[in-house]
Amino acid sequence: MAEKFLSSAAGKRGLMLFAGLILSAAIALSGKPAFSGSGETAAETRATPKVEARAEKEAMFYSKLKDNFVRCLLCPNKCTLPEGSSGICRVRKNIKGKLYAMSYGKPCSVSLEPIEKAPLYHFKPGHKRLALATVGCNLSCIFCQNWYISQKGPGEVTEYDAPPEQIVEEALRQGAESICFTFSEPSVFYEYVYDISRLAKEKGLMTSIVSNGFINPEPLRQLLPYLDAVKIDLKAFSEKFYRKVTGGELEAVLNTLKLLKEENAHFEIVNLIIPTLNDSPEEIAEMCAWIKENLGDDVPLHFSRFSPTYKLTTLPPTPVRTLEDAIKIADDAGLKYVYIGNVPGHKRNSTNCPRCGKTLISRRGFSVTSNNLKDGKCKFCGLSIPGIWE
Ligand code: SF4
Repeated sequence: MAEKFLSSAAGKRGLMLFAGLILSAAIALSGKPAFSGSGETAAETRATPKVEARAEKEAMFYSKLKDNFVRCLLCPNKCTLPEGSSGICRVRKNIKGKLYAMSYGKPCSVSLEPIEKAPLYHFKPGHKRLALATVGCNLSCIFCQNWYISQKGPGEVTEYDAPPEQIVEEALRQGAESICFTFSEPSVFYEYVYDISRLAKEKGLMTSIVSNGFINPEPLRQLLPYLDAVKIDLKAFSEKFYRKVTGGELEAVLNTLKLLKEENAHFEIVNLIIPTLNDSPEEIAEMCAWIKENLGDDVPLHFSRFSPTYKLTTLPPTPVRTLEDAIKIADDAGLKYVYIGNVPGHKRNSTNCPRCGKTLISRRGFSVTSNNLKDGKCKFCGLSIPGIWE
């Protein structure tokens, strides 16, 4: 049975566990770096042997087929599931001909952290977010920093009972200004994200997701009114890489990015550069040209440093020089807000005004050390800077 938190019988223990997770995040806030690869690193979790049956929340996007089969319509995998089986993401299960979201209300990681860790640099800099994840992912990246939750199913790590109301209450109690769905893949715990986000908006909290972008258009469209910011991992600019290294499809992710643009959402892109796999100057130039043509020149783009992990331990960390070469390619392509990630103290952690060149936001690690924006404009030359600043 999953651990309860803040409930009557097991409330005390649950509260302690929950507080422990929050505390672990406070370490990140206090300055201990927690470097990440394509995504962020989740708070540590502990294994639990067993979990209750949890057919609580029916999935929002699926169709019923004959003989009690169902087809999930949430992501491009479009899993067709016979009774009793789960999808590729592990967390959506066909029970008696209905599809259920099995990680609904069962986070495995909850922590208070700076938004810069996402990274989301144009989203109210320096604010604290309550970062939340459940198990599961619809991709299987061999370099996943959070494989110990993303590549697990319900009951394979410690989880907590936390209905949406409790998460929102906890965010308010901790002084968070937003709730961020991250670490694993938020689209696979869609209903939980949806319900928390709706409630969060009612209580005046902002929301964001850190996603691989591998989601179908209709679910994304329905969620966007309740999200303030979206970070998408564009893991490479080749179908071959996506199929071999992630189990996904580049085209679907590009469609997500175009949809975010169409819907006028605030979004930022992270490209994790992995030596020999996706670091060719030609591929990076192609990606930057596509971004400029399809999304515009003012989408924040973060080139992030790879560190060996999970099934990809034979390659070295990305040389800083490679990231700087990528920055130059993006600058030359005309992209205006290009950053280097996972290299603390690098001058390209800062936001510069593309018109007057002055430093607008200085960052050190996950901290904001100065902010020269006034009403969303450069205080030196008055240029409007895209983002959510208030
Ligand atoms: S969300 Fe999960 S069950 Fe649904 S299609 Fe994607 S991988 Fe399959």
